[in-house]
Amino acid sequence: MKKKLALYLFFLTFLAQSILASSIQLNLIEVAPGIFVHQGKHLDIDESYQGDICNIGFIIGKDSVAVIDTGGSLLIGELLKKSIREKTSLPIKYVINTHVHLDHIYGNAAFNDLNTKFVGHSKLPKAMQFRKNFYETLNLRYLKIPFKKSIQIPPSILIQENESILFDLGEREIKITAYPPAHTDSDVTITDITTGTLWAGDLLFIERTPVIDGDIHGFIDVLAQLISLDNINLVIPGHGTPTKNWQEAFKKSKDYFITLRDDIRHSIAEDQGLRKAIETVAQSESQKWELFDVQNSRNINQVYPKLEWE
Ligand SMILES: [Zn+2]
Repeated sequence: MKKKLALYLFFLTFLAQSILASSIQLNLIEVAPGIFVHQGKHLDIDESYQGDICNIGFIIGKDSVAVIDTGGSLLIGELLKKSIREKTSLPIKYVINTHVHLDHIYGNAAFNDLNTKFVGHSKLPKAMQFRKNFYETLNLRYLKIPFKKSIQIPPSILIQENESILFDLGEREIKITAYPPAHTDSDVTITDITTGTLWAGDLLFIERTPVIDGDIHGFIDVLAQLISLDNINLVIPGHGTPTKNWQEAFKKSKDYFITLRDDIRHSIAEDQGLRKAIETVAQSESQKWELFDVQNSRNINQVYPKLEWE
């Protein structure tokens, strides 16, 4: 009986997803010539995750297309692919994942084609493998996607830490740079040289509270490095609205992480304990960000144990 019910529910979900896929259009903005971005919604993963919370998009060159992040499910990936096909019939040469987080990678499966190469940080394949079970559980819980349908496609073209590689889309070069541990241990950025557009992945959050899942010292260093970049006109964050005031935006994130770090150090020095820290740390930042309480608590949980060992 239980099995029948499960099958029936699975069928219903599948049907709903198929209907959704054929009727939904991704909202796309051309933020610079040939660069299209779909902005996901600011929803929290534990509260209302629907697989479409981050920024995804693509760059069109003279003879090929590069996709940057694919969304949190096959459905979102397919919708993105459909949007690409409405703009161009050029081959999709590269799919680039800015880092390992599930909201950015589970649309990869929609682009699984012999002519498409997947590109990412040299630590990304391991990071994907490491989180596979956990992500499958989350996809089942929140998106009702069965384990076997949560398909990861790891990159085969790998960028080493502190290395930048140029890729040609046909009279349009993009530069992919890999970073030491910061937001995660698998962060890359993509720069479109022609327009001076930087895709920052989750090294930048705008509006919603930044997330740390890598190394806080590394993150602060990388943000300082990004603030001093040259020849950038526009930055596309991993979450939030693309901005021309990008130096200010990186600085706002950096200030948050410095406050987080310093307040945690203070709390440790005062021997307050994690529970008290969650009530006090970085509260001076609370009015500046969306979804602050839930994410700030997670960040404290992440960073506190590490700083205890300093
Ligand atoms: Zn992320």
